[in-house]
Amino acid sequence: MKYISTRGEAPSLSFGEALIAGLAQDGGLYLPEAYPRLSESEIAGFAGQPYADVAETIIAPFAAGSVDRKTLRAAIDAAYARFDHAAVTPLVELGDNLFLLELFHGPTLAFKDLAMQLLSRLMRHVLAVRGRRATIVGATSGDTGAAAVAAFGDIDEVDLFILYPKDRISDVQRRQMTTFAGGNVHVVAIEGTFDDAQALVKALFADKRLRDEFSLSGVNSINWARVAAQAVYYFVAAAALGVPYRRVSFAVPTGNFGDIFAGWIAKRMGLPIERLVIATNANDILARALATGRYETGRVEVTQSPSMDIQVSSNFERLLFEAYGRDSAALRRLMGSLQKAGGFSIDSEPLAAIRAEFDAVRIGETETTEEIARLWRESRRLIDPHTAVGVGAGRAALRARPDVPMIVLGTAHPAKFPDAIERATGISPPLPAHLADLFSRQERFDFLANDAAVLETYIRQRRASKRAAS
Ligand SMILES: *Cc1c(COP(=O)(O)O)cnc(C)c1O
Repeated sequence: MKYISTRGEAPSLSFGEALIAGLAQDGGLYLPEAYPRLSESEIAGFAGQPYADVAETIIAPFAAGSVDRKTLRAAIDAAYARFDHAAVTPLVELGDNLFLLELFHGPTLAFKDLAMQLLSRLMRHVLAVRGRRATIVGATSGDTGAAAVAAFGDIDEVDLFILYPKDRISDVQRRQMTTFAGGNVHVVAIEGTFDDAQALVKALFADKRLRDEFSLSGVNSINWARVAAQAVYYFVAAAALGVPYRRVSFAVPTGNFGDIFAGWIAKRMGLPIERLVIATNANDILARALATGRYETGRVEVTQSPSMDIQVSSNFERLLFEAYGRDSAALRRLMGSLQKAGGFSIDSEPLAAIRAEFDAVRIGETETTEEIARLWRESRRLIDPHTAVGVGAGRAALRARPDVPMIVLGTAHPAKFPDAIERATGISPPLPAHLADLFSRQERFDFLANDAAVLETYIRQRRASKRAAS
């Protein structure tokens, strides 16, 4: 399988090359040249299959030519052995035709583990085959960083640098990174928002000299392998509810548009999805874009669901590319306007194509708290604030189509965001046993200004000191 850039000015790459590259050299995002298509009987056969079997079937065609089937299977088995639920992603019923897909049974209690645990193993394989090392630099709104630290902490082929917006993530999120830092893992607090941190990372990648000097690699949700790994649980959940013999909808708490885009990929591969519901918090750029056709960045609002406190949803570029019939010149124009003027208008035909498959629902802070309280009151179930945004949006969309089952993606464990849960219910959810001592562990991080030159120097020094020490 070959991968092409949304901006059409970077070489097409193999799966392994795209895995290491992350972002394309022209600033675009990689997508497969074509989507593999599954038959109805293959999809029906997923019902009751172990998670790893479904994952192998879904991911193998994307990795073909770079990762042999046996290596892929071993990586999948090792990745999902670290989950503390036999089903990996259990599906539970919340109410009439309303379901919750629990994606938080991995080592860092958020859905990011599902892709990151696999990504680190595939990347190690691809690097080892090439006799190469890589420097991974990533920005995080909290959960990606923790998942990356947990996944790459013992991978010798990689130096990991994770940037997070200072004081804008939860204590649990921060400690999941800072208490595991050291060795090949460097955690950096940046003065600014997530978008500032992400812009710093993008600036590094845009510099060809630095890309080569550092062998830069990215694991943000722009990395294609993450999207591919996330498509798996859409199949698992839908098959459990009787798909392909009926249709289902999904509501997805959305920030960078990676998770919900994986659902769109699953649909492209043949999964009969009725609606994909983009659930946003007060940072509602996507809800506004769908309503008005104008994608316009605003100020980032701090909410209870910090992993969605994002104004630029990077993976939306992939959907736009498809909605524009893979017209990379059009994408260069839109993204140029985003950079220069802070926004762009989606043309009417692609906008109609997007609206034909997606809904977008904004759930504000009060509604989020009410949703957490409601589920606790009605069913003694604690959900985290991101998941609550998804449940709120899922309920709204279900009212419009009550006969189609709605599956909400539960993106984080409630113990990751105890303050929000306590505000809503008076209860503070305990951390699972493997993280019980999180608050007594030593934290290690550095604090840097929002400045690309400062970051460059920092990375150069840290990489050098690592080499000197080894
Ligand atoms: C990352 C994250 C999201 C948003 O996912 P995207 O792929 O960025 O849209 C939602 N909820 C939680 C808990 C997350 O960690």
